Amino acid sequence: MTLNATNGRVNGNRQRRIDHGAVERAAADLLRALGADVDAGALEETPRRVADAYAELLTPQPFRATTFPNDDGYDELIVARSIPFHSLCMHHLLPFHGIAHIGYLPGDRIIGLSKLGRVVEYFSRDLQIQERLTTQVAGWLQRELEPKGVGVVLEAEHLCMSLRGVQKLGAKTVTSALRGAVRDDGRTRQEFLALTTRTSHDQ
Ligand SMILES: [Zn+2]
Repeated sequence: MTLNATNGRVNGNRQRRIDHGAVERAAADLLRALGADVDAGALEETPRRVADAYAELLTPQPFRATTFPNDDGYDELIVARSIPFHSLCMHHLLPFHGIAHIGYLPGDRIIGLSKLGRVVEYFSRDLQIQERLTTQVAGWLQRELEPKGVGVVLEAEHLCMSLRGVQKLGAKTVTSALRGAVRDDGRTRQEFLALTTRTSHDQ
C-alpha cells in the first residue's frame, strides 16, 4: 500500500479562543451564587481547576487525517465499532458519553482505522448536541474521503438526563447519519446496521 497520502489536514479553524482568567472568575462567581464559600481552603483551587477542565474539553486536537489509495479495489464495508467518546452537552454543560460506530464503503481512497476515532474526538471537543456531532463526523468523512457511502451511529448516555430530570440511569440516546450507498442501497444499509447494532446488545 502506497504511503503517498493526500494528507487532508483537520486544522484549527474551529479553535475557539478561551479566556482562561475570565473562566476562572466566572467559576468563582458561580460557586458564590451557589452559596459556596470560595475562599475556604477546600474550594480555593476549584475555579482554576474548572477553567482547566473546560479548556481541555473544548479544545480540539488537530491531527493529520492520512488517506491511502484503495489500490486493491476493496469494495466492502469497513466498520470500526464501539469507539469510546465523550462530549459536553451545550444545553447543560454536562457530559454525555458513549460509543461511536463508523463505517464506510470505500471509493478511491481509504483511511487508517485509528483516524476514525480521532475524527469523533475532534468534533466532540465542543459544546455539542449528539445529533450535530453525528452529522459532523459523517460530513467530514464524506468530504475528506469521498467514499461510496458513510454510516455513523452514536449511542450515548447524557448526564443531564440520567442525573436529573427524568433520571433514567443508563438510558441511551442513539443517533445515526447515513450517506450515499449506506443510506440508499438496501443491502449495504442492512449490513451496516447489523454490524453496528449487534454491539449494543453485546454490552
Ligand atoms: Zn443536556
